[in-house]
Amino acid sequence: TVKRKPGIQQARMQLPVCAEEQTIMEAINNNAVVIICGETGSGKTTQVPQFLYEAGYSHPDSDNPGLIGITQPRRVAAVSMSKRVAMELGLTEHEVSYQIRYDATVSPKTRVKFMTDGVLLRELAQDFLLTKYSAIVIDEAHERSLNTDILIGVVSRVLRLRAELSKEDQEKVKPLRVIIMSATLRVSDFTLNKTLFDKPPPVLKVDARQYPVSVHFNKRTPDIDHVTEAFKKIRKIHTRLPAGGILVFLTGQNEISVLCKKLRKKFPPLSPKASARQRAVEKEKEALEEKKEVVTAKNAEVEAEDLELGEGEIDKNVDLEDFDFDEDTEDEEGFTDEEEEQEPDAPLHVLPLYSLLPTAAQLRVFDDPPPGTRLCVVATNVAETSLTIPGVKYVVDCGKVKERRYDSTTGVQSFEIGWTSKASADQRAGRAGRTGPGHCYRLFSSAVFDNEFEQFSTPEINRMPIEGVVLSMKSMNIDTVTNFPFPTPPEREHMAKAERLLAYLGAIDSDTKRVTELGRTMAMFPLSPRFSKMLLIGQQHDCLPYVIAIVSALSVGDPFIKDYHLDDARPGDSDDGGSDNEDVARREVKEIRREEVAEKERRKLARRMYYKVQTKHAGLDPTSDILKLLNVVGAYEFAGATEKFCEDNFLRPKAMDEIHKLRGQLTNLITTNLPGVDVLVDPRMCPPTPIQLRALRQILAAGFIDSVALRADLASAGAAGKGRKFKSTRGVPYRVMWSDEDAYIHPGSVLYHDSPPEMVVYQEVFKASRVWLKGE
Ligand code: ADP
Ligand code: MG
Repeated sequence: TVKRKPGIQQARMQLPVCAEEQTIMEAINNNAVVIICGETGSGKTTQVPQFLYEAGYSHPDSDNPGLIGITQPRRVAAVSMSKRVAMELGLTEHEVSYQIRYDATVSPKTRVKFMTDGVLLRELAQDFLLTKYSAIVIDEAHERSLNTDILIGVVSRVLRLRAELSKEDQEKVKPLRVIIMSATLRVSDFTLNKTLFDKPPPVLKVDARQYPVSVHFNKRTPDIDHVTEAFKKIRKIHTRLPAGGILVFLTGQNEISVLCKKLRKKFPPLSPKASARQRAVEKEKEALEEKKEVVTAKNAEVEAEDLELGEGEIDKNVDLEDFDFDEDTEDEEGFTDEEEEQEPDAPLHVLPLYSLLPTAAQLRVFDDPPPGTRLCVVATNVAETSLTIPGVKYVVDCGKVKERRYDSTTGVQSFEIGWTSKASADQRAGRAGRTGPGHCYRLFSSAVFDNEFEQFSTPEINRMPIEGVVLSMKSMNIDTVTNFPFPTPPEREHMAKAERLLAYLGAIDSDTKRVTELGRTMAMFPLSPRFSKMLLIGQQHDCLPYVIAIVSALSVGDPFIKDYHLDDARPGDSDDGGSDNEDVARREVKEIRREEVAEKERRKLARRMYYKVQTKHAGLDPTSDILKLLNVVGAYEFAGATEKFCEDNFLRPKAMDEIHKLRGQLTNLITTNLPGVDVLVDPRMCPPTPIQLRALRQILAAGFIDSVALRADLASAGAAGKGRKFKSTRGVPYRVMWSDEDAYIHPGSVLYHDSPPEMVVYQEVFKASRVWLKGE
């Protein structure tokens, strides 16, 4: 029996799931799978494991002696929830434990184990029957993270196996209980999926008390960045509105750090009367935030956190110093004139919250704020459903989310900040109504919400390249991926194609379709398998620094401004730099009086300079767009990585900066995870030698082994054919591997102006009125 402290017991009884304890346990005892839906904060994560524990699960002498396992898509939730449940049960961290990729408290005495879904997936690779466990709780299923989806698929099979084996020998094998928990009612992908569960599992709805939340949209969606806008809104709330915690949703670590710093500067966390000791304590606590987690290949795997690592982090150059502190006169929804802005009578207790923040700093959000202060938590999505922060009355929502995107034709992944879904914006708003009526301030207009927000977020599996998914499943020894019961299956043809590509890359055996040693190593990198392959074979002739630069550039995307956007980029307008000739030309342009002519001339000039730059960077190898990319990355670092260089070379500064960061990260991953491999961290590189250039072309071809196009005349002439002679590539058709349609070399390629090569390795094929090839 469990003896809880009276305060804890009382707080539990307020939680909606506790009213349903009996119903929930009955359903679990009578069904192999049960789905529990309940509003965030209703007590699912903290209480359901305790119900299981009290019902005898995990007790050595019971019918269900195995561990109670609870999975989370986020490390932060696994750690903090295990601590909370241990405390509520009055047990130690060796009994209620957690395990995340690089940290664990598990012991032989562990009864309840919180872990990330990635950890359980890896355990499945060792022990497919999950023999250690009597019950598995899969939490936050509504998030539809890739690992959760795959986990639900795998576990549906484990269930059947365990049931069959236990029929054969009831003493030795016990059936497994599975509980899927979701913060929303949108679970039909699981319940109605026949390949997943033979008969639809029961869905238990927990009615949560939710106070009304008034939603206030901005009149207009501001063009200034949302961090500045959030700052303004917080300032208004804090200076004008009654007591109550503020929860702010931003997209990533950088934005959060910037905003916290600014808020702390504007509203010091302690009153002027605070003692020196109080100040020292506060300083010490803030210092908890500074400890950085080390990024290794292992923890850079496909966990939700990784979106916060700064991959593709949009550096908005948020500079609030410039920000206009004058009150805007425009009246605003949610604020009336009576509410004069006044000196706030309470200090603002500002806390950041994101997954990579050290645990000790994260847990501060659950502490009561110092007496007389107002709590203000600045968080990522992690506060949307994973963690419930007590006492929140106001929510400020930027409406954005950083998401992994995937372009299935180019195979290139990106991390982009875009609008979140209506469902998730409503989740965020709901956070304001836990303890009483609340307010949600949306930093965008209702028109944007109505017209530009999707109803629901896309499951991660559809935002991921399939070959990456397939490779990680194979590295878990799930071999027949095409039969796998995905909650939302990718297309069959896509999966077969992914397997073919993996076989070409040597990641899986082409006959057995099983993962190879090389494949296992490739699975470590948070990259498309073709890029991982290039990195792993990139060590020959000291090419690795170049391969890292190329892979980074390809992953980020083409940094060159497209020539059809030339009219926006006006390098001709800047007065310094450029060669003499250009200066002369520029001066000539200025002298032309009539504006239209000048305009036309200016465009012509810009275009001329644009092509000049393109030719300059192709100097390394005039037949390769990708080596042109390498050249520009090298030249950029050499010039000191300046905006000026970007402007002069028609480059997007943001893209160049992202490439720079990714290079650092990949270099780090390789040095920490491939023993014996030494790569220079120095971003500057000497240009490659001719031997290295040849090696690089081979490495590229190995990575893009499925992306080779043959000139159509040679393809039809057969091996003996000589093919025709061409003067230019214009209109010369090529055959690609995955399509019957002819493709043509893109006018933007350095190849376009030369005679057409017999074979081309291409990175992307895209469709316009024609199918274009762009590549090597
Ligand atoms: P759900 O999983 O349904 O979203 P939880 O079980 O996470 O709900 O939370 C139930 C309640 O417990 C919430 O009101 C939350 O504020 C509180 N809670 C959770 N973790 C902690 C903690 N570490 N410290 C204090 N309160 C907590
Ligand atoms: Mg929860």
